[in-house]
Amino acid sequence: MKKPLLHQVYDTDMFRKKGHELIDQLADHLEDKLRQTSKNAIHWNEPDTELAFWENFLKNGVENRLFPEIIKRTTYIHHPHYIGHQVTPTAPMTALTGMISSLLNNGMAVYEMGMSPSAIERVVTDVLCKKIGYDTHSGGFLTSGGTLANLTALLTARKANVEADIWNEGSQQQLGIMVSEEAHYCVDRAAKIMGLGEQGIIKIPATTDFRMDTALLEETYAEATKKGIHIFAIIGSAPSTATGMFDDLQQIADFAKNKKLWFHVDAAHGGAAIFSPKYKPLLKGIDQADSVVIDGHKMMMMPALTTALLYKKSVHTNVTFSQKADYLLTESELEDWCNSGKKTFECTKTMMSIHWFTMLKLYGEDVFDAYVTHLFDMGEHFAGVISEHPHFELAVQPMSNIVCFRFIDAKLSSEAQNKQNETIRKALLEDGEFYIVQTKLRGVHYLRVTIMNPFTTETHFNNLLDKICVLADNI
Ligand SMILES: *Cc1c(COP(=O)(O)O)cnc(C)c1O
Repeated sequence: MKKPLLHQVYDTDMFRKKGHELIDQLADHLEDKLRQTSKNAIHWNEPDTELAFWENFLKNGVENRLFPEIIKRTTYIHHPHYIGHQVTPTAPMTALTGMISSLLNNGMAVYEMGMSPSAIERVVTDVLCKKIGYDTHSGGFLTSGGTLANLTALLTARKANVEADIWNEGSQQQLGIMVSEEAHYCVDRAAKIMGLGEQGIIKIPATTDFRMDTALLEETYAEATKKGIHIFAIIGSAPSTATGMFDDLQQIADFAKNKKLWFHVDAAHGGAAIFSPKYKPLLKGIDQADSVVIDGHKMMMMPALTTALLYKKSVHTNVTFSQKADYLLTESELEDWCNSGKKTFECTKTMMSIHWFTMLKLYGEDVFDAYVTHLFDMGEHFAGVISEHPHFELAVQPMSNIVCFRFIDAKLSSEAQNKQNETIRKALLEDGEFYIVQTKLRGVHYLRVTIMNPFTTETHFNNLLDKICVLADNI
């Protein structure tokens, strides 16, 4: 006889059986993709086709096909031909920590609801602060994604750096932030959420190589200030998303210090380079930032979402959402490291710290160096291949593992070349052997790769370029 419904849900024998089956399916998937037993990085379906499949599956699908179909009908991040968005092929061990988090469901809003993940979070963020070069007054926490972390940091900046009590009384004056025109769109979104409006986002133009033009900082600041805008923060990108170019953080730090601005570094993608002796110099000046964002799910091999938000002064972690002005917080409130919910935007969050801790415990800090250094090196290799190829050109000499390039056909007008590259990218997606993305830079259409998989080699890349040449011939 079938068990009552809720007993079925919590049937531990079934969990054990299905769990073992699933691990086997996922391990098979990993082997298949990592070793490229199957050729494709994606089996593209139009959204409506995919929708129809799942609508039908809910009614008629066979239960034991559920997990296998989900696994199959995705983009294969672990395939060396996946060189698209900045999402990491997760270290398989962190899929296991993901399962622990999902099953134990300790939400960590208060210490009692997650003792180990709360303490572990402290250990992990202390390691990160130290690597940044902060002293012992620093501290931080983990939160759900770079987007939310950037918003949180800017809220802290406003609370700490604007005298008026905006949290309680609303904003009476026009406030502003300064940021490169190349910054991730989530910074704009954060500013809009905070009510700064379009006029409160002071865009600093980028140089020809897509880095913040720091020579324009003084005059941009003066212009905005003349209009009555009170600027309270400046944001550096490390690197910016589209091109992977790093802003000169030291220059921004000096400027911020001079103008008493909060200096925030959006290092969602490249922050992991704090672990790389070779590439850490790209982050020079990061130790002077008031706050830093680093995504674990980008350059640190962890599952989405997990982001570290680190502060030069740990007291700032408690002021963001406090009802009181920060100078009214008591010593014990300021020292309350273990109740994560007071500091984070989220109330409940996942036990994300255990991914970071497991990586550190099983493989040591060196694992992050190995990953970042290798992938940034590959960015340079790929750029070299493109530079030497007669049919391709780079948008810019890359500083990281993000490379923008395009197919060139000198016979065509610039408009037709844009169209051609757009068509190439669409054809690649539908073909599915390689997964890459695209971006428009100053009106020019580029193909864009982010090398995220340590097993993607120059041979794969050459095969991609060959394929593009064939596709271009057929267009
Ligand atoms: C990816 C990225 C973000 C957004 O982070 P999510 O974790 O996707 O929310 C913000 N800034 C930069 C520079 C990024 O590369």
